[in-house]
Parts: sequence; structure tokens; C-alpha cells
Amino acid sequence: HAKEDGRNALRFFEVAMQTELTLRTILETELRIGIEKCEFVLFYQPQFNRENQLIGAEALVRWQHPTRGLLAPADFIKVAEETGLIVPLGQWILKSACKQLALWQEGLESNHLVLAVNVSARQFAQKDFVETTLKALELVKAPPEKLKLEITESIVLDDISDAFMKMGSLKNAGITFSLDDFGTGSSSLSYLTRLPLDQLKIDKSFVDGLPERKQDALVAQTIINMAKGLDLHVVAEGVENTEQLTFLIHHGCDAFQGYHLGRPMPIALFTTVLSVY
Ligand code: C2E
Ligand code: MG
Ligand code: MG
Ligand code: MG
Repeated sequence: HAKEDGRNALRFFEVAMQTELTLRTILETELRIGIEKCEFVLFYQPQFNRENQLIGAEALVRWQHPTRGLLAPADFIKVAEETGLIVPLGQWILKSACKQLALWQEGLESNHLVLAVNVSARQFAQKDFVETTLKALELVKAPPEKLKLEITESIVLDDISDAFMKMGSLKNAGITFSLDDFGTGSSSLSYLTRLPLDQLKIDKSFVDGLPERKQDALVAQTIINMAKGLDLHVVAEGVENTEQLTFLIHHGCDAFQGYHLGRPMPIALFTTVLSVY
């Protein structure tokens, strides 16, 4: 019986694998079509400073899937990265973000806003990433100083000298850089601090435990102090309640983002928020 059970288990495993493979293939095809048909939309999550002023937003992509409704990045970014489709998708994201930045320039109440855009490693590794990014800005006359690229350690790990060169060129043009999910990676601090960064973003996983969880409190404080020492701006993501916000303000964090202050929202809603602040 044992042999038969084993065979059944194997068969079950094969079926499960096959199903997953089929689903992935479908998702890949749908993604390809979705990019062609422009089924994606940017949501904007507000960022505030210590005086509770609206200083900018993070652009977060959503997929208006033809049958499954509005999908979050967790449902498609991984496959987009593995298939390379993140490259055309990322280009669309950059272009859309630049268009929005250009529109904000026209209004007195919005011309100070900085827009943060996530860049995936695969996208950053493209030979023409610098050129494409600068072109996206130029095309709509958006100010480079208002574009902030959110990168992760993985970008740097792939090819350090390439990352240094690209970041240098983009910084020369006025673009700023934030290191996203800071504290969750595994690269050495000394070398992260040598990157031409402007901002560290404290990962939500550390903000979650504030203020009670001693380890998280220590990590958050350490990141803030390190940012100060390195002359970097520091922003906290995933701020969900007053206690977390109070702790972060008390310890010197510069900026805040999270459900407590505002969820990612369509541009129409963000514009309404803007008129209130
Ligand atoms: P991220 O860059 O770290 O973005 C922050 C994520 O945390 C967003 O999830 C945001 O909606 C969520 N968040 C913000 N505040 C709170 C909060 O208070 N509580 C909770 N529970 N969550 C909060 P989202 O939009 O689902 O994006 C997830 C990840 O997908 C992003 O993490 C980023 O890595 C990736 N992503 C999103 N948009 C893009 C994009 O345009 N391009 C690329 N390459 N990646 C993107
Ligand atoms: Mg981000
Ligand atoms: Mg983040
Ligand atoms: Mg995060």
C-alpha cells in the first residue's frame, strides 16, 4: 500500500504543479494583453511631514483586470518581474507618474509635491534606464527634482558599479533616491551608506510593532539616527495608528505614510485630499 500511496502523492503533486503552471501561463498572457490595452492605473498614497503638511505621494500600481476586478501588486508584480514584462509595465508607470507630476506643476497648491515611484531591479538593470527615465520627464516637461525613485537593495546587489553609475547620472539631472524597505535586506550597511541616496524608508515590518515591541522600537530609532548622521531624509511607511505616529515624531522621523494618514487612492480622490491640506 505504501508504494501505491507514494504514487498517488506523486500524481497529486504533478497535478498541482501542472495547475500552477497553467495559471501562471494564463496570468502571463493576460499581463501581456493588459499592458498593450493599458489596463493599469496608478494609485497615490499621501506622505506628510512633521507639521502634518502634505508633501507628496507614493505612486502604487493597480491592475484593472477585465474579469477579476482591481488587482494589487502582490497578484502580478512577481510574475511581471520573472517574465520581464515589468520592463514595459515599469515604463508605463514612469510615464504616467511624470504626466501627473507635470499636471501638479500647473497648480499653486500642488507644485511642491514630490512623487515617489517604485523601480524594480529588472527595470533598473535595463541598459537604457537612465535615458528612458529622463525622456519620460522631458516629454511632458516634468521637473526632475520632484521625481523620487524608490529602489531596493536588490538593485544594488545585482551590479554595484552599474547602480552607482546610473544613480549618479539620474542624480545629476535632479532626481532623488529613496531606499525602500530599509532594514529588511542583507547587504552591508557600510556599502549602502556609500550610495548617493537622499532618503531611507523604514519598512512597515518595524513600524508594526511600535511602540511596545522593544526590538522594533530599537530598529526604528537606529534607522532614524543613522539617517540623521548620514544627512538623509527618513520616512516611515505603514503608519496605522496614533501611537506609532507619536513614537516616530518623538524620535525625529521626518515624514510619514500609512493607512492612519491616508490609503493609496485614485487620482480624483487624491486631488480632493490636496484641496483640504
Ligand atoms: P512598497 O513600495 O513597500 O509599498 C508600500 C505598500 O504598503 C503598498 O502596498 C501600500 O499600499 C502598503 N501600505 C501603505 N501603508 C500601509 C498601512 O498603513 N498598512 C498596510 N497594511 N499597508 C500599507 P501595495 O500598493 O500593495 O504595493 C506592494 C508592493 O508592490 C510595493 O511595496 C512595491 O514593492 C510593489 N509595487 C507597488 N507599485 C509598484 C510599481 O509601480 N512598480 C514596482 N516595480 N513595484 C510596485
Ligand atoms: Mg515603495
Ligand atoms: Mg516600502
Ligand atoms: Mg514595504
